Amino acid sequence: MEPQQRSPLLEVRGNVELKRPLVKAPSRLPLPGTRFKRGPDRMEAALEPEKKRTRGLDTVTKIATSHPRPPALTVRPQTQSQTTAPKVAKKAGPRCSTAIGTVLKNQKPGPAVPAQKPGAAPPVLGGKKPTKRPAWDLKGQLCDLSAELKCCRERTQTLNQENQQLQDQLKEAQQQARALGAECKTLEGELARVQAQAEQGQQELGNLRAHVLELEEQLGTKQGLVQELQKEQVGLQEERRGLAARLEEQERRLQASEAALSGSQAEVASLRQEAATQATLLVEQGERLHGLEMERRRLHNQLQELKGNIRVFCRVRPVLPGEPTPSPGFLLFPSGPGGPSDPPTRLSISRADERRGTLSGTPAPTTRHDFSFDRVFPPGSGQDQVFEEIAMLVQSALDGYPVCIFAYGQTGSGKTFTMEGGPGGDPQVEGLIPRALRHLFSVAQELGGQGWTYSFVASYVEIYNETVRDLLATGTRKGQGSECEIRRAGPGSEELTVTNARYVPVSCEKEVEALLQLARQNRAVARTSQNERSSRSHSVFQLQISGEHAGRGLQCAAPLSLVDLAGSERLDPGLALGPGERERLRETQAINSSLSTLGLVIMALSNKESHVPYRNSKLTYLLQNSLGGSAKMLMFVNISPLEENVSESLNSLRFASKVNQCVIGTAQANRK
Ligand code: ADP
Ligand code: MG
Repeated sequence: MEPQQRSPLLEVRGNVELKRPLVKAPSRLPLPGTRFKRGPDRMEAALEPEKKRTRGLDTVTKIATSHPRPPALTVRPQTQSQTTAPKVAKKAGPRCSTAIGTVLKNQKPGPAVPAQKPGAAPPVLGGKKPTKRPAWDLKGQLCDLSAELKCCRERTQTLNQENQQLQDQLKEAQQQARALGAECKTLEGELARVQAQAEQGQQELGNLRAHVLELEEQLGTKQGLVQELQKEQVGLQEERRGLAARLEEQERRLQASEAALSGSQAEVASLRQEAATQATLLVEQGERLHGLEMERRRLHNQLQELKGNIRVFCRVRPVLPGEPTPSPGFLLFPSGPGGPSDPPTRLSISRADERRGTLSGTPAPTTRHDFSFDRVFPPGSGQDQVFEEIAMLVQSALDGYPVCIFAYGQTGSGKTFTMEGGPGGDPQVEGLIPRALRHLFSVAQELGGQGWTYSFVASYVEIYNETVRDLLATGTRKGQGSECEIRRAGPGSEELTVTNARYVPVSCEKEVEALLQLARQNRAVARTSQNERSSRSHSVFQLQISGEHAGRGLQCAAPLSLVDLAGSERLDPGLALGPGERERLRETQAINSSLSTLGLVIMALSNKESHVPYRNSKLTYLLQNSLGGSAKMLMFVNISPLEENVSESLNSLRFASKVNQCVIGTAQANRK
């Protein structure tokens, strides 16, 4: 260990050991005070007069018999002063030896001092007790005194020497004392330092104890923690065992799965091969399907054409509650050549010839009028049955053929019921428009599987007194409707468009229902301003259908028009009319001229005339793209079952028959 790092305590101890002989030294010294005190006493005693001398003799006697103490040779045997001490004692005689012995009586005992020389003093010479000199023996006395004086002088000299020796010793002792004082100071300093170190040590010890306490506390906490961790470890070991078991299970499963996977992979490979074969087959099938679809379209069109590009269906509405029941036989629906199982195509209406009956006075004979159409729907026919018949025709619109369906008849004969449906939103009485659109959406979705995508845009206008009005107008235009004009979509374009009218894209029946509702609201608003307007106007619902087969670059587009025509009733020309009424008749005829024009257009188309008078009415002008060429046309002639409407019914039936005549092939006019 380095000296600097040595413990202060060890250092102090070393110092103490080193200094110990020095500290003990003073204890070996003679007590100078005692000697100096006794010295003068002896001197005084020596110089005392007679009385004292006697006493001194006694003392000498005592000394002679006593054993003188050894000088302090053991203290400093090597020093000069100490070696001279016994010699001085010998020379000094009994008194001197007594004095020195007294001085050194506290010293360690030494060897015995040799006996005093005889003859130094007369009383002891010859071993005899000194005798008192007689008074007259002055010489003797003087001799004694001289001897005594000599002895005293020797003693004085001895004492002086001793004194000198003691002074030397004193000096030495003082030096030692000073050295010891210095040493003591050093030691005190050291002691202070040691004490400071001790204090510091104590403080450190205190700190260490506090630290130990703190560590013990931490140890306690750690032990608690260790216990918790041990518990946790036990839990984790449990968990680990569980996990290991699960892992084993999973590994087993994995192995099983891997085995299954390899099996599956082989299966997948074979399936892929099969899928590739299937894909090739699918392409082939697709090709075939497309070919079949095109063939279907062709055949479908052929069928429609065979059925007639212009077809006429007759529908008789039922007698409504509160209406008079017609007489039996008024309306008859004879069976076709195939018997009652055949769908009816014929209608007979009987009318009493009142003029003939009146003239003869007999009951008026009835005249039976027979009509035959492509299909006749008796009063009990439901909306679904009616639609069934036209579903194929509607599909032609998806195939790209323009389709136009009219409802013709007098007011109240059931045109609106047929086209839009009955009141209350009952699905059973849903009309042709919602049914046709639902059918179109459904078929378009099916064709989507073959790569066809279709879009539909709807418009709904009303033509009243040769003015066109938008039935889908909203906001401020609602019910009022600024006048619309029919224009070509562009220069040289065949497509027609109605200005200021809304064209609304539709994709589901809900949207169509919303449009029909809006049209009803617009008509209702208009009715308040002009009574019976709806029955005197044509409602034209048009759906522009566009189809595209992107894969094959095919496109088709065609309009589907569903027209609820104005009431066909006319003023009876047989009635006696005043000039004002005749004027009104002309006006009414003018209003109905569009219906006549429609008939004329159909006739012209049928006769393949070079000029077709489309422009003679707004209705025919608007519908021109849905009437000519490859267009398919269907006319519903709606008939009232009431006898009171027989005249109008006959008019309607005759008009429809004319139209029916126009159709090549299937149309057969049945006239009376
Ligand atoms: P139009 O539109 O020709 O003037 P509507 O369609 O308004 O005639 O029909 C007149 C009334 O007859 C309406 O109340 C309607 O509900 C009812 N109606 C018409 N056809 C039928 C039918 N086939 N079945 C039941 N009710 C009908
Ligand atoms: Mg109507």
